[in-house]
Amino acid sequence: MKKGYVVRFLKVSDIAQQHWCHQFSIYRAVEDEKMVKGAVKQLKSYPNNKVKIDHRDTKYKYLPKHKLRELTGISKNQGEVRAHVDIDKNIVYLPTPGDIFETGEMEQHLFAERYPTVKTFFVWGKYAVLACPDGISDDFCYEFKSTSNPFLYFYVKHVALSQVHIYSYFYKKPKIRAQIRIRSTEEIKTIKGRRDNTRVAEALDTMDKLLRGKIKPIPPAAWKCGKCEYRKKCPVRGKKTGK
Ligand code: SF4
Repeated sequence: MKKGYVVRFLKVSDIAQQHWCHQFSIYRAVEDEKMVKGAVKQLKSYPNNKVKIDHRDTKYKYLPKHKLRELTGISKNQGEVRAHVDIDKNIVYLPTPGDIFETGEMEQHLFAERYPTVKTFFVWGKYAVLACPDGISDDFCYEFKSTSNPFLYFYVKHVALSQVHIYSYFYKKPKIRAQIRIRSTEEIKTIKGRRDNTRVAEALDTMDKLLRGKIKPIPPAAWKCGKCEYRKKCPVRGKKTGK
């Protein structure tokens, strides 16, 4: 990664990842920038730069993984196929249970509350921020996440809350609603409350400073690095154990 690299196109979820690990959120933002830039360009061709999405009447069907690959045109070595949305028929095809690892995306289709949402982007300073909450109601934005156990719930919660507060800030909603499913206990925790502008300002400011190299990434707890996809190239890993 170039030193002092400034990303101009960001996803809300990448900003929120700073609550998992500062360096992780930088890697993700850099990696996602091309895709986000393309999505922003595409959104500009829609009225008011917005696409409305409403899966409330969507049906869910299971298909074997190889059938999903045929539907999406994704070959074996291009990674996992998690779901295919057939917009015309209003059907989401999911991999047959047992055919694929349980994923956040699948969990979302199966367990998240259903609201309409809007995909759009917001200009914030020098950045275009791509946003698509898991749901939008009259007075809150909604975010759903899935985690494997109660220990990780504690950490995932911070990411989910940061994300949903940022959504509510951009979409001008006074409240937030987040749900996190803990797979080992099959429990769904619900967190709701009023939007916290201070928290949003801090998260946006920190992300800006991290991307411009104005602050050094704080190393996370060492166990987070153990399974991190960036551990081989990460300069922050192992420097010091954070919380
Ligand atoms: S290896 Fe550790 S410090 Fe580096 S990005 Fe991953 S979690 Fe963060």
